[in-house]
Amino acid sequence: MSGDRAINASLEARFGAGNYAPLPVTIVRGEGVYVWDDSGRRYIDMMGAYSAVSFGHCHPRLVKALTEQAQRLDTISRAYFSDRLGPFLARACTLTGMDAALPMNSGAEAVETALKAARKWAYKVKGVPAGRAEIIAAEGNFHGRTISIVGFSSVAQYRDGFGPFPPGFKLVPFGDAGALAAAMTAETAAFLIEPIQGEGGINVPPPGYLSEVARICRANNVLLLCDEVQSGLGRTGRLLACQHDGVQPDGLMLGKALGGGLLPVSLFLARRDVMDVFTPGDHGSTFGGNPIAAAVGLAALDTLIDERLVEHAAAVGAHLLRRLASIDNPVIREVRGRGLFAGVELHRDMADAGALVRRLFQSGVLTKDTHRNTIRFAPPLIISESQVDWAVDRFAEVLEEVASSSVEAHHEQGAHS
Ligand SMILES: *Cc1c(COP(=O)(O)O)cnc(C)c1O
Repeated sequence: MSGDRAINASLEARFGAGNYAPLPVTIVRGEGVYVWDDSGRRYIDMMGAYSAVSFGHCHPRLVKALTEQAQRLDTISRAYFSDRLGPFLARACTLTGMDAALPMNSGAEAVETALKAARKWAYKVKGVPAGRAEIIAAEGNFHGRTISIVGFSSVAQYRDGFGPFPPGFKLVPFGDAGALAAAMTAETAAFLIEPIQGEGGINVPPPGYLSEVARICRANNVLLLCDEVQSGLGRTGRLLACQHDGVQPDGLMLGKALGGGLLPVSLFLARRDVMDVFTPGDHGSTFGGNPIAAAVGLAALDTLIDERLVEHAAAVGAHLLRRLASIDNPVIREVRGRGLFAGVELHRDMADAGALVRRLFQSGVLTKDTHRNTIRFAPPLIISESQVDWAVDRFAEVLEEVASSSVEAHHEQGAHS
């Protein structure tokens, strides 16, 4: 079977692009919080495909919604009504308290939709002079990979070689409400923010930051756009991460988990006067809101509520964070997170998060490092406390190895100097 693995890797190397560097494992099956490789070895998925598999792999109710819809009606153009889209949009709006929703596919497309809506709202409603609208985002952001979005990334690699970028964006430090207030002008259309930065390192802002941001936006007639593509839909133990601060955004982006791990489904949701800037022909997507996507998206939202996964994530997430925080190991610099969205930052001079992820994989735990030398834990929301315990025990063991080898390295250095 390992021959197959070599064939897969060499086919990807021969015919694929080099924009990912996968671990040497070929996953062939998934169920719940587990996946299996081609040699039958089981792994616990503590990464959850960046929140895309919040319901666990191949959730029966979602697979049923997908297959039943696929046998009834597949894709039709948005030039016609389908019997699936309306109920999906209604459910999404009712749950999130937003007035209207526009369906897209990827998270990046939902963010692009938000940026277009904000700019047009600035011109048509706020009265910003033509071509002058400005959007403020946060340093350390991740909103996707399109040219306009990477244009305001603070990660040099995401931008390198891809310019020129569209103008009209500026950055303020994440977590600093005063800096946002100072950056606003009469031409500011919107502030775009992840309530908890995911790719940036699971960065939780200081308490009160988001509610202060909402107040500043309201006072300046600036739209607050919350990108909850990763943090939304129960991940942090609330339906939306911004609800921890009692904030209702003017625009909201959902994705990842919304497709139930089965297909890309995203939404831009907004206040009515913001959504109303769109008129027929302004904006669209061939697959956005197609009947299969709508059926799966609706089933995902129903499952989230019916299985009480938000409450479950809050309880098991608190357990995960407690367990991580109680690991007594000098390699750990900080444990951050909320709900089942946790990051463990390691001291750079003692351990490399990427190497640790490879070691964890050998112990049967799948995860992924992210910025700031941080290991991310974002398992499916259905995970149990004992499954969390098993994964954290493996993590603590691997950290123990790293700590003892880095102590040895220090001793050796001392001996040589
Ligand atoms: C993943 C992510 C996106 C982009 O989603 P894609 O489906 O990969 O385009 C946007 N915003 C946030 C916060 C994300 O985590």
